[in-house]
Amino acid sequence: MKILVVDDDGFALQLLDRQLANLGFSNVVSCNHAREALTRLESDAAYFGLVFCDLQMPEIDGVEFVRQLVRIGYRGGLALVSGEDERVLRTAERLARAHHLDVLGALHKPVTLSALQGLLSLRHASRCDAPESARHIYTPQQLRAALDGNQLINHYQPKVSLASGELVGVESLVRWQHPDDGLVEPEHFVGIAEKHGLIDDLTRVVLVTALRHGGAWHAGGLPLQVAVNISMENLGVLDFPDMVEREAAAAGMPLTHLVLEVTESCLMKDPLSPLDILTRLRLKRIGLSIDDFGTGHSSLAQLRDIPFTELKIDRSFVHGASRNSYLQVILEASLAMARQLGMKTVAEGMEERADWNLLRTCSCDVAQGYLVGKPMPAADLPAWLREWEGRRGELTSRPA
Ligand code: C2E
Ligand code: MG
Ligand code: MG
Repeated sequence: MKILVVDDDGFALQLLDRQLANLGFSNVVSCNHAREALTRLESDAAYFGLVFCDLQMPEIDGVEFVRQLVRIGYRGGLALVSGEDERVLRTAERLARAHHLDVLGALHKPVTLSALQGLLSLRHASRCDAPESARHIYTPQQLRAALDGNQLINHYQPKVSLASGELVGVESLVRWQHPDDGLVEPEHFVGIAEKHGLIDDLTRVVLVTALRHGGAWHAGGLPLQVAVNISMENLGVLDFPDMVEREAAAAGMPLTHLVLEVTESCLMKDPLSPLDILTRLRLKRIGLSIDDFGTGHSSLAQLRDIPFTELKIDRSFVHGASRNSYLQVILEASLAMARQLGMKTVAEGMEERADWNLLRTCSCDVAQGYLVGKPMPAADLPAWLREWEGRRGELTSRPA
């Protein structure tokens, strides 16, 4: 792979050049000037697989450079390098991502060999796990047929206590077992269901399946909380609470162990009906969780209006929080607020050990994320649990 490094500081250029050589990358072009770098890239954009760019440069700064990369149609990877503070670096990174550039990450100056190595290993990971075929757009008719043909299945992701590591529940996450495309993620079809009047059917299928699995776990001595995602659109049907109660009774699942996770995906025409329904769900002792908290869809106004029992902090505030003091402030404030309102707190998107330790120290109740376990078919849960029992002690041995 051919790499281009642009930095106005000659020493920084030399250092990165040598470090890249140490890691086995010898095909490196260094540029002192952003204009020169752009000329090189423009003449042969397809030739370069990776660009390292300093943010602070005279003439053309990093942000402008990123815009020029987009203009010339650069398709390779991008790594930002800077001595600026963390927040500026992260913002620049987000900006580049918003331009749909393949951003590997940001490095602080002076760049260390291990940080560089970590970043370059991401290059391999991101190349492998983004299959092009996942970019299908489905029609409402196809989705209707999938619903009728029982092609929607539930996966379950564990939710564990941060204090003890104990498995407290699972979240059900719907997948489409597509005959040609394989396992399709909900982002490719839940929005279609919401837009085309299929969400009530989708929710019922997911709910009934989750209740059955939950009922079986309870009967088998594993009294888990089962969470199901619902859309605001589901809350326009007034008999929703009665339907849930009927199905739970049929599945032998206690309502006290059911949690409905809600995000506000669009503004409701009649704002009273969701409130009516959510209040009645609560009167039936069903748990209500505010999902993706902090993202703008799930806001303070909802906390004020709806009797939520659980607050799920969005993964954009959890992931990397141990390295970002701004995220820590937001996390602590959200957790303190939830505690004062008597709500249980869940951190989603827990991928790193350091974030786990941080959230434990902040007395967050529950963690969910790849560090603990990925979403899996119900049948895989017992094997996961055995594996987790062997691993959880190591994550909870230190006092919080
Ligand atoms: P969500 O409810 O916030 O679910 C969490 C999402 O984060 C899941 O994605 C999960 O696989 C993913 N996730 C979990 N741990 C990690 C982690 O450590 N790192 C990262 N990067 N991601 C993690 P998934 O399954 O693709 O679901 C996406 C969204 O689709 C869900 O977000 C939920 O809003 C929606 N959804 C899923 N199932 C249903 C459903 O049955 N009904 C409705 N209405 N929406 C659903
Ligand atoms: Mg959820
Ligand atoms: Mg969420």
